[in-house]
Amino acid sequence: MHPGHPTPGPAADVLVIGGGVIGLVTAWRAAQRGLRTALADPRPGGGAAQVAAGMLAAVTELHYGEETLLGLNLASADRYPRFVAELEEASGEDTGYRSCGTLAVALDADDRAHLRELHALQRRFGLESEWLSGRECRRLEPMLAPGVRGGLRVDGDHQIDPRRLARALVVACERAGVVFHRRWVERLSVVRDRAAGAVLAGGDEIPAGQVVLAAGTLSGRLEGVPAAVLPAVRPVKGQVLRLTVPPAYAPFLSRTVRAVVRGSHVYLVPRENGELVVGATSEELGWDTTVTAGGVYQLLRDAHELVPGITELPLTETGAGLRPGSPDNAPLLGPAELPGLLLATGHYRNGVLLTPVTGDVMAHTLVTGELPDEARAFTPRRFSTAQQEVSA
Ligand SMILES: Cc1cc2nc3c(=O)[nH]c(=O)nc-3n(C[C@H](O)[C@H](O)[C@H](O)COP(=O)(O)OP(=O)(O)OC[C@H]3O[C@@H](n4cnc5c(N)ncnc54)[C@H](O)[C@@H]3O)c2cc1C
Repeated sequence: MHPGHPTPGPAADVLVIGGGVIGLVTAWRAAQRGLRTALADPRPGGGAAQVAAGMLAAVTELHYGEETLLGLNLASADRYPRFVAELEEASGEDTGYRSCGTLAVALDADDRAHLRELHALQRRFGLESEWLSGRECRRLEPMLAPGVRGGLRVDGDHQIDPRRLARALVVACERAGVVFHRRWVERLSVVRDRAAGAVLAGGDEIPAGQVVLAAGTLSGRLEGVPAAVLPAVRPVKGQVLRLTVPPAYAPFLSRTVRAVVRGSHVYLVPRENGELVVGATSEELGWDTTVTAGGVYQLLRDAHELVPGITELPLTETGAGLRPGSPDNAPLLGPAELPGLLLATGHYRNGVLLTPVTGDVMAHTLVTGELPDEARAFTPRRFSTAQQEVSA
């Protein structure tokens, strides 16, 4: 406690800054471990999850150079069914989890060559995916364009509704006793070279034994965090459309369908409730979240090439969100160089997928002070100058 400062609510063992899915799962798991946990966010359950498609795509999102991340993605995908069952039980909320699988298709010879490469990479890592001819793809998904040249059937890449996930996490946190401060954090409090809590907008101070910075794309900007400790997280804008499949058209698609069209990724994610999410652009434009005519046009044009029938569907929503990108596209998890401060950020395009494993990793680290083996490669210290000199 700091004499002279107001201290709303009880002192916390842990203060989580940021109530997107990553901050929420960290708070929920910490509270379950018996830690007195507080979370500060003006709108917990908001953030990128309000826009995200919710693909749990460990296999179809495999990229060259991201093999280490693959291990964490697979660990999280593996935990999803049990995580969802536990969360739905704890919150009484439906998360919209759907184990429907994914079909990645090619529309021309270049796309097909690219998918063949991806298939070879997947097989090298022992991942389950099956090559299908164009005809076999259309047999699975009759709404696909006649020109589809082939595709990869990945039965293990599922989906969840990120808005419902976020809502369920808020309720689970409340039921587990997490104290919510629905305000911005103005700055980190540092006392004797140790993170000691945070000051909220309006001046109230929340003292805490440990602080977790989970502020998404804003994690790299929080005042009070020493410059050398601030994570190098940047916003990567994504525009997304939501369409509705009227009951007369159902089932329009039975699984997630995706492709690379003229170098841009496009995907269609069909929810049980008739929503069809079409995404997403990838734009490095700072914190801009404007929905542009160009973004909407690109998504509709590419999605229409893949599934021509989408033009019949009502367009119900457009939106843009920010992915918290890190220098190596992998998250930063665990203790920072400042004692008492931990990071849970930089989840980039896989934050929804990585929610279960992040909760487990962060709770373990908060309780023991050590990252579990599965997360050691994701220490924020991998970007510190001293670490880079040692590994050079
Ligand atoms: C278009 C798009 C599509 C996506 N699709 C997928 C997908 O299919 N699958 C997948 O796995 N992932 C997907 N993602 C990525 C995923 O949504 C993100 O990685 C994830 O939501 C990040 O969660 P977060 O909690 O780290 O950050 P955020 O969701 O950004 O949450 C951060 C929170 O911190 C709060 N905050 C910030 N600063 C402060 C402060 N000073 N004080 C208090 N609170 C603060 C904010 O209010 C916010 O609520 C997508 C993202 C986008 C944008």
